[in-house]
Amino acid sequence: MVSTENAGKPGSTGTSGTGNAETGDTGAGDTVSETARHAGARRDQAVRAAVEQGLISEARPVVGLLDVAGIRSSAAELRAAFAEVTPPGTAVLHAFAVKAASLVPVLRLLYAQGIGAEVASPGESALARAAGVRPEYTVLDSPAKTAAELREALALGVSVNADNPQELHRIDALIRSAASRSPLGLRVNPQIGGGSIGALSTATATSKFGVALRDEGARAWVVQAYLDRPWLTRLHTHSGSQGLPLALMAEGVREVYELAEEINAAVGHRQIDTIDIGGGLPVNFASDDHSPTYAAYAALLKETVPGLLDGRYGLVTEFGRSLLAKHGTILARVEYTKVSGGRPIAVTHAGAQVATRTVYDPASWPLRIAPYDAEGRPRTGPGIAQDVAGPACFAGDLLAENRTLPLIEQGDVVAALDTGAYYFSNHYAYNSLVRPGIHGFSAGTGDGDRVRFATVRAPGTVEEIVTESGGGLADGLLKLNV
Ligand SMILES: *Cc1c(COP(=O)(O)O)cnc(C)c1O
Repeated sequence: MVSTENAGKPGSTGTSGTGNAETGDTGAGDTVSETARHAGARRDQAVRAAVEQGLISEARPVVGLLDVAGIRSSAAELRAAFAEVTPPGTAVLHAFAVKAASLVPVLRLLYAQGIGAEVASPGESALARAAGVRPEYTVLDSPAKTAAELREALALGVSVNADNPQELHRIDALIRSAASRSPLGLRVNPQIGGGSIGALSTATATSKFGVALRDEGARAWVVQAYLDRPWLTRLHTHSGSQGLPLALMAEGVREVYELAEEINAAVGHRQIDTIDIGGGLPVNFASDDHSPTYAAYAALLKETVPGLLDGRYGLVTEFGRSLLAKHGTILARVEYTKVSGGRPIAVTHAGAQVATRTVYDPASWPLRIAPYDAEGRPRTGPGIAQDVAGPACFAGDLLAENRTLPLIEQGDVVAALDTGAYYFSNHYAYNSLVRPGIHGFSAGTGDGDRVRFATVRAPGTVEEIVTESGGGLADGLLKLNV
């Protein structure tokens, strides 16, 4: 069972403070909410403590921090937002998209807050299981599930959303060979259009996901697929993503709701009992404020698709980024500073290996950078345009380019903010850089109480890199005849 003892209880907050981010380049200083100020203050405390307690050091020059109170409160806000717009007793499963932070202790923490798991590979399924997430709280999506993956999911009772007609035929065969209690659905693409980030837009006309509803004959095919399969009881879409306006997301959900109504009318009873609306709530990377909020999205859904939330349908959501992003911070030591072409450059240990999207597509994924001194105190001072570079050996390995910040010095610690989702948890193995350690923290209360840390993932080692890279197979190629 999911323990609900903490659910709905907002996480504790630290002492109020100004938060280092405001000394940076956010430009959001005057509009920062109290929650945001608390988050900034907790982060400042944690950075100081990470330096004092040696979590970041010469031997471990990059580290990821997770604000446990922040994660808890986001989980509580998500649950409260949907509870607010649905009648009591409505079945709502919030399944965290595991790819956003594929870390077992994070999945366990969320599960303790009543949040399940959305998985999309054998690895993610294994992580959810290792975290103790029960099959009935797990949803398997993925455009490329193998027959073995499907068989395992059906045997366990994990909910599965089929992506396409061929996959549905595979499930037909599996269902015939062994009964399953897995709730089964079909993913559709409402083709409502994309957002500002092409690579993340799941609901364009030619997206690779789901059955493209507006293609010729597709809608009729979908209705018939349900008529033919009384066990197909769910309908799924994931139309959002970073860069998509909320109104467009809500439109996508409305399209899917209307399709469910049409199918149920055709079948003559409520065969579809649950609608999975996916995730994709965008995240504000410009300040500590959480916007848009889950409450705003839920209210917009209530306005746009009242029928979805009137209690006749169960709901599944699959939020990823919006649950974790604001609660993660990458800390990196500044190894050297230099000047090139007249511009100061801080050479840090965080680059493409932990901030892959930002490095390769900086215009879509700008990150706030907060500099701290070698003792972990927020750096203040006049803003100077500078580059914050990573350790990888390609010119574009920059966390921030030409960014106005207090001048960073050798030995400083630089923080890349809002990196709790899709950043340090999704390591990229360029230059054989080791995975950084990840630590959750609980802020001190301000009256002498120390910040406490718990390891989420131990730092990787060079020995592991050698092993993963064929270290035990050094002679392998020499054995082949030429
Ligand atoms: C990635 C993904 C999500 C989560 O998206 P976020 O933007 O992180 O909220 C949810 N559902 C599916 C099917 C996904 O692929």
